[in-house]
Amino acid sequence: MSTGSAPHPKRWIPTYIVLLASLLILAAALALQYLRTGSDSYLVSAAFVAVIAVYTAWSFARLITLKVTPRSLMTLLKCPSCGHEVVRRYREGDMLFSELDACPKCGSKMVAEGIFLKEEKH
Ligand SMILES: [Zn+2]
Repeated sequence: MSTGSAPHPKRWIPTYIVLLASLLILAAALALQYLRTGSDSYLVSAAFVAVIAVYTAWSFARLITLKVTPRSLMTLLKCPSCGHEVVRRYREGDMLFSELDACPKCGSKMVAEGIFLKEEKH
C-alpha cells in the first residue's frame, strides 16, 4: 500500500537539465560573439544569461535536495466494550466500521473508527 499522492519533484530533473544546458550554450555563444565583435551589448547579454543559468542551477540543486514529507495511512481502532483506542498502521483490507484486531485490554473485537493520513515525524 503506497502512501501519499504528491507528485515527485524528481520528474522535473530532465526539464532542468535541458534548460540549464540551453542557457549555458546561449551564454557561451554570446561570449563568443563578444570576443569576435568586441561589442559590449554581447557581454551584457552573456552576463545576463549566465545569471539566469546560475539561478536555474541553484533552484535545481534545491529541488533535488528537497525532502518529501513521508505520510502513512493509519487506522484508528476503538473497542466497543471498554472504549480502549489504538492507532496503528493501515493494513490491506482495513475497512471503516469493520471488526479487526482483538482489544489488548478486554479481548473484544475492536472496530475501525477512522482511516487517515498522518505525517511521519523525524
Ligand atoms: Zn476492550
